[in-house]
Amino acid sequence: MTHLQPTRALFLDRDGVINHEVGYLHKAEQVRWVSGIFDLCRTAQELGYALVVVTNQAGIGRGLYTQSDFDQLTFWMQQEFAARGTTLDAVYCCPYHPEHGLGEYKREHEDRKPNPGMLLRAARDLSIDLRQSILVGDRCSDIAAANAAGLPQAFLLAGTETAACSGTYTPVNSLDTVAQWLVSRPAVVTA
Ligand SMILES: [Mg+2]
Repeated sequence: MTHLQPTRALFLDRDGVINHEVGYLHKAEQVRWVSGIFDLCRTAQELGYALVVVTNQAGIGRGLYTQSDFDQLTFWMQQEFAARGTTLDAVYCCPYHPEHGLGEYKREHEDRKPNPGMLLRAARDLSIDLRQSILVGDRCSDIAAANAAGLPQAFLLAGTETAACSGTYTPVNSLDTVAQWLVSRPAVVTA
């Protein structure tokens, strides 16, 4: 298999997309994988997408767990992905919360979705072309971040939001649908 230089990314929210949302998850034993996540990641990687996690983690700012807890869980997740034949290329988290953050964490931040800061930073760090990248999220704030970053395609995975979001997106009931979309997507047109 030719390993393509990633120029486009599959951005993934974490809670509700990679693992089921349980609220302020921060331990490996709390993780239940969302069906289809590893197939989706393997498919995307074979097609040349970088896999980039972009996750709000206000639990850090709220003092419910630490950045170190998050980093340890991320390390464990990366090993779990590797054991299943796929690699998370980068993981970005935003620990801030404008109202409930403690101390230095109490602030609005460009990284906090619905703001696109993490996507824009990933694009710079990994030389990602946002105009060829997509996102899968489970909240309207994920969709808003994708739209703000100029991604041409965002998917909202059913199960968390109880009403429609504003913005431009495709609702899906499973990650398998996203994988199928990637496979059938027209070839990238290079400038
Ligand atoms: Mg989520």
